[in-house]
Formats: sequence, structure tokens, C-alpha cells
Amino acid sequence: VELTNAHLDAIERLDGRLNSFITRTPDQARVAAKAADDILAKGEGGALTGIPLGIKDLFCTNGVRTTAASKILGNFVPPYESTVTSNLLRDGAVFLGKLNLDEFAMGSANLNSAFGPVENPWKRNGSDAKLVPGGSSGGSAAAVAAGLVLGATGTDTGGSIRQPAAFTGIAGIKPTYGRCSRFGTIAFASSLDQAGPMARNLQDCAILLESMAGFDERDSTSVNTPVPNYEAALTRGVKGLRVGIPKEYHAPGMPAEIEALWQQGINWLKAAGAEVVEVSLPHTKYGLPTYYIAALAEASSNLARYDGVRFGERVKGDSLDALYEATRAAGFGEEVKRRILIGTHVLSSGYYDAYYLRAQKVRTLIQRDFLNAFEKVDFLLTPTAPSSAFAQDEKPTDPVQMYLNDIFTVPASMAGVPALSVPAGLDAQGVPLGLQLIGKFFDEETLIAAGHVIE
Ligand code: GLN
Repeated sequence: VELTNAHLDAIERLDGRLNSFITRTPDQARVAAKAADDILAKGEGGALTGIPLGIKDLFCTNGVRTTAASKILGNFVPPYESTVTSNLLRDGAVFLGKLNLDEFAMGSANLNSAFGPVENPWKRNGSDAKLVPGGSSGGSAAAVAAGLVLGATGTDTGGSIRQPAAFTGIAGIKPTYGRCSRFGTIAFASSLDQAGPMARNLQDCAILLESMAGFDERDSTSVNTPVPNYEAALTRGVKGLRVGIPKEYHAPGMPAEIEALWQQGINWLKAAGAEVVEVSLPHTKYGLPTYYIAALAEASSNLARYDGVRFGERVKGDSLDALYEATRAAGFGEEVKRRILIGTHVLSSGYYDAYYLRAQKVRTLIQRDFLNAFEKVDFLLTPTAPSSAFAQDEKPTDPVQMYLNDIFTVPASMAGVPALSVPAGLDAQGVPLGLQLIGKFFDEETLIAAGHVIE
């Protein structure tokens, strides 16, 4: 109760500025905290009993409004709980509310929310400019970094856990596709979407992931493989492991200090006993274009269900088609509309073979790059993002420029392999930078061990 009240007070004091919460649930939180205290008083419970968390507003929560940061779901109260959040509730976690994000998880700066932008709690030295927290899990990242919650759920389709973690100096894990159930998580691109933890360090992420993960018969892509004790992996070290450095990740125009931090990360791992090997992922340059075809195609199909009839807000029209049109015109934001248009285009007859089918073939090549690399090395080390957090008013006007933020995170998503971001240092302006570790299918443990050497 004490822990919950302290965090509720922090939210009260700081979130007017940060805007990391869309919905706060203090009353439910106090009831849950009291129940947790009763369990602890009996000497029962576990690592998560009574721990205050925030939930990205993309996870359905029974009886608590779930918006995906979209106007179209502004009044949607789910009658059921997502599997990931029910797992956390089962383990005694206390939810303080629903966290802001880019609308339907589409974005890299949390500037696309119908509930307003989220501010990064970090500032550049001597500057008052408002920095973005990254996206799409920007509310989760800002709330954790500012100490409003002890951990948060995120989702990652092409980088949405890792890039905001890097921008706010926290840790975040995108598990292997299939590790966490997607049941009850509002879909963006179903073949890529994966839930994961965000917290101040990898130990907290490990505890959260162990609770969130596991087979679920309600998600046909969830994989039936045992969930390891991730926390135990933390102190395994990297002695005798081989770390791969993909040469294609030396992106042109990347700031020298990010290159330098990457080298620093290599040195830390070497000093801890890892062997460093250069590897090649030759299809890296096709990652972004194929992601922005495959993900948008799936999004255009997934978002067809928001028609004003079955879910959320409705704008009346003279006919059924007019109702659909008016509802979707008023309910979706600009970026979501852009993506529905592109996704519909690449799936239309005459374009399907040229874009969608080709992107799927290239996706297989990207996956093979990783499988080949993992015959030689145990995991890979790269920067998480090609820049540190930028200012809200430095937002690129060209959407493609914004998509370039995802250049290092998208390939692992396309391959389905696990990846995490760990805080590794600050840039010259005092703003956090992260390093990314990418691993073999279902080998989150090696990433946690290696990440802990760096954090
Ligand atoms: N920034 C990427 C996008 O806009 C990734 C988003 C995500 O992972 N949900 O699609």
C-alpha cells in the first residue's frame, strides 16, 4: 500500500507535464495493493506481489477503458483481460493505469496519440526543449524513467519497446515472436506484434517477462515451450560466448558518439571474456522497406474491424457505407490513415505480387541472414537507434524520415528473433543512448546475461 501510494503521488505531481497516462486507476490500485499486503502478511506471494505497474493502452483490461490512443476506441471498455495482463495480475502486480502510445502503436516518437504527446523526462544539458520519449511505447518508457511505476508492459512490432527504452535510459525486451500471448492485445501487424517488459534494469525486466510469457491456447502463434527462470540468467556472464558485430549496421551518417558507444560495448563484452566476431547480414538494407510493406498490409486488414458498428465511436451516416466512411474519417488520425491507404494499395490486385509477395520473400532472406550469423556467434551487438531522443519540434516533416528511426530494430522483428535494449551511456548533451542485443530463437537468457554486463 505504501509503495502504491508513493507512486500514485508521483503520478499526481509529474504526469500533468509528462502525459504518460491516458487512464489512471487509483481506486482499483489501492484495493489491489491492500489485497497484496494481506498475501504478504501471510508470508505468501512472489517477486511481483504488490508491485505498481503501468499497462500500455494496447492491452485489453477487463472493465477499464482501452483506447489504443485512438479516438475511434475512445469509449471502448473491454469485457475481458488480455493474457499478458492476466498473468501479471495472477502474480499479484498492482496496475496504476493505462499508458499513452502512438495511435495503434504506429510511430517512433509518441507524437501520433489522440491523447496528446508524451514528454521524455530527460532534458538536454542547459536546454528546456521538450524531448520525445520514442515510440510507440512512449508512455511506458516515460512513466518508468520518471519513477511513476516500477515497470510497464510494452509491445514491439518494429522497435516499439527497444527504441523508447533507449531514448529514456531504461531497459526493454522484445521476446521471441510467440513467447508472449497476443490474446487481448489490440493488433497492429499480427505476424510481428510481440509484448514485452520495460523497466529500469534487466533484473526487473527478467522478473516481469517470466510472469508475462507462456503458452496460451487462445493465441495460435503462441509457442508451447517452457518459460525459463530469466532472473537466474542475469549473472551468467559472457565468458566463452561469441558476440557478432554486423558490419551492415555501420549506418551512413550515424553520429560518431553512437559508433563510439558501440565500440565501448564491444570492449565491455571483451573484458568480460566474450570473443568478438564480425558478421554480415547482407539483406539489412531491405529491412525497412519490407517492414513498411508487410506491417502496413497487415494493419490495413486488422483495422478493417473499426467500422462504427461493433466497436467504439460511431458517426452516423445516411447509409451503411456512409456510416463507415464518416466513422473512420473522424476516428483515425493522419498516420493511421496513411498506413491503411499504403497497406490497402500493396494488397490490391496488380500490386500484390510486386509489393506484398516480394516483401514476404525478402523477409525470409532477412531471417536466413540471422540464422546464418547464429551458426557462428551466440548473439549480436548493435546500437538500438541511429540517434538519441530528438525534440518534439524537431519532428521530421517527411514520414519516411521518421521511419528511418527503426533501421536497427526492424530486422530482428522481421526475423522473429528476440532482442533487447539496455541503457549504455549518455551522449554529449546528457541524453541516454542504448545498445541492442539480438539473440537466437527463444534464447532471451543469453541476451539478459550479456545485457547485464553492459548495464
Ligand atoms: N516505429 C515503428 C512503426 O512505426 C514500430 C512501431 C512498433 O513497433 N509498434 O511501425
